[in-house]
Amino acid sequence: MADRFFPNEMPETSLAVAAHETTTAQDSLTKLLSLPYTAVSDTLKNSALALKQTVVNETWGVSGKRVQDYTLYTGALGTAYLLFKAYQVTKNDNELKLCCDIVKACDSASRDSGCVTFICGRAGVCALGAVLAKHAGDERLLDLYLTKFKEIKLPSDLPNELLYGRVGFLWACSFLNKHIGKDTISTAQMRAVVDEIIKAGRRLANRGRCPLMYEWHGKKYWGAAHGLAGIMHVLMDMELKPDQVEDVKGTLRYMIKNRFPSGNYPSSEGSESDRLVHWCHGAPGVTLTLAKAAEVFGEKEFLQAAVDAGEVVWKRGLLKRVGICHGISGNTYVFLSLYRLTGNVEYLYRAKAFACFLYDRAQKLIAEGKMHGGDRPYSLFEGIGGMTHLFLDMIEPSEARFPAYEL
Ligand SMILES: [Zn+2]
Repeated sequence: MADRFFPNEMPETSLAVAAHETTTAQDSLTKLLSLPYTAVSDTLKNSALALKQTVVNETWGVSGKRVQDYTLYTGALGTAYLLFKAYQVTKNDNELKLCCDIVKACDSASRDSGCVTFICGRAGVCALGAVLAKHAGDERLLDLYLTKFKEIKLPSDLPNELLYGRVGFLWACSFLNKHIGKDTISTAQMRAVVDEIIKAGRRLANRGRCPLMYEWHGKKYWGAAHGLAGIMHVLMDMELKPDQVEDVKGTLRYMIKNRFPSGNYPSSEGSESDRLVHWCHGAPGVTLTLAKAAEVFGEKEFLQAAVDAGEVVWKRGLLKRVGICHGISGNTYVFLSLYRLTGNVEYLYRAKAFACFLYDRAQKLIAEGKMHGGDRPYSLFEGIGGMTHLFLDMIEPSEARFPAYEL
């Protein structure tokens, strides 16, 4: 188990850092941790703006601006999403222009794609395209992308999970409604999809102990990418009927009751393997869902469960990968989410600690072969694209959002 992550030897609290400072000789990471937050976030910002350039060169420049993998997860749309974040920091119009060019190429590359989600499919291309067009003040382009979005058809045999299924489409609808305006996608249209998701969940649960259950490729997953955590997370942004709300709460309570003794969450129903502490599988993705439940329902049990799951991420979350799907960057967003929810500055310290670990060590550890650079090393979800996004989010931590997942 221990070889999946680095032991977390950083001080547990900001007070402990202060004590540390006066008693021991300091390595570069400890020095970073003892700096005031603004000094650290300035350092991360400068690093991010340089890294962003590398990501653009590697994923767009060297390919001659041709798109093979258009997805947000591992492909060019992820670079566009990162550039949009950079634009929000720099307000540099060239960034927005480049971003629009990349999405245009993704639009061509995804024209015949059957995938309908934000993270892996065409909904992501059309939704991000529309939002960029709005920022660029291009009404015609905005209408064009919205028309294309509305042409997306959901096959009847679609799964329900986030990466390839119904909630992955619904998330794109919420993204549009947030950034373009309420009712850009009508409540009625979204409700029809929600009803199908709830119906499918009740059918598979079959009056079992958990009110809703789903399957993807024959497995009943629990995590954010393919399972219950991701499905419940998106459903909580929808207008639900009272009985649907009760089923979502009941599903979350079932998960909390059946977590591992360590506090981590199984990757699928009945699994006894307490290994993965990723956004995609395990406590980090579940923490984000529980934090959202605490915010939406205002119930203490969800807040407590989110806090408990966050402890697992602190202890076992320094993964030997950098990305946001199953790497340290994704796990850092857990602390940013808990900070936003509770206002407790110790969570901001923990986010700072994980981000500083990445800044100080990641590239060296990758070069030494002690950390995996990701199969797609510059991508948003698996590579340093995600780390770069995190560093930009550290500038305004109360506004930070896990990419393509937290609204
Ligand atoms: Zn993953």
